[in-house]
Amino acid sequence: MTIRTGSVTLVGGGPGDPELLTVAAVRALAAADVVLYDRLAPHETLAELAPGARLIDVGKRPGHHPIPQDEIERLLVMHALEGANVVRLKGGDPFVFGRGGEEVEACRRAGVPVRVVPGVTSAISVPAAAGIPVTHRTASRMFTVVSGHAPLSPAELEHLAGLGGTIVILMGVTNLPSITSGLARFGMDADMPVAIVEQGYSTQQRTTFGDLGTILTESARAGVGSPAVVVIGDVVRLARGGDADATAALAGAATTTAPAAPPVGP
Ligand code: SAH
Repeated sequence: MTIRTGSVTLVGGGPGDPELLTVAAVRALAAADVVLYDRLAPHETLAELAPGARLIDVGKRPGHHPIPQDEIERLLVMHALEGANVVRLKGGDPFVFGRGGEEVEACRRAGVPVRVVPGVTSAISVPAAAGIPVTHRTASRMFTVVSGHAPLSPAELEHLAGLGGTIVILMGVTNLPSITSGLARFGMDADMPVAIVEQGYSTQQRTTFGDLGTILTESARAGVGSPAVVVIGDVVRLARGGDADATAALAGAATTTAPAAPPVGP
């Protein structure tokens, strides 16, 4: 007798709004027997999106410990070996600071078929929700996405300060003081615009504006918390000139401080 092996699909869930799931993500969820989901993945409508699935919350919740990474990997493999179609639903894109690579390796080691459905990353979409394009012909021709989870080394800060373009920091709220002081130490101008966009694509979305010299005061005053995306660069000045969707999103979001400088570019 042969037992059918199931499979694992790592699905990028986008920044939180179910409208920003891909068609492939919706199809994978509809066909799932088991869904393991994170706090930042769009989970409020999961019961509708995955009507046949057992839903397992493996994310961090206040007062609860998250399930450790090796246990998540063990669960993925276990359910797949039992024959289930397993979806691992992650926030944003699975391969942007999402430990997706580790989960793919765990499946391969166990001989479980695995595929990846990319997602809309918060690194680009959350700034967009606040009207900030990460590139702009006249303001920035590159963007660098950085994890602020662990403190940056002096060498990394020096490189970042000298790169130009836009810097997008994920998981950067806790280490923001050392990041801003480090960038200033390595020569970034104190009037470089900075925006912090909290809880993108939710009804609590809020943007706090400042510049390299003032953003710590502004964020303390506003009580900024995670999850948030920090954007550093001239593109922040464009926040008020975004496309129609971004402007609508901005209109629905609280804005604590206006950008210091007038918009750039045509
Ligand atoms: N794989 C994810 C990122 C995981 S790291 C992606 O591609 O988006 C988690 C960090 O992403 C958070 O600490 C925060 O910096 C950012 N983030 C994710 N969703 C967000 C949202 N809706 N609003 C603001 N920040 C978000």
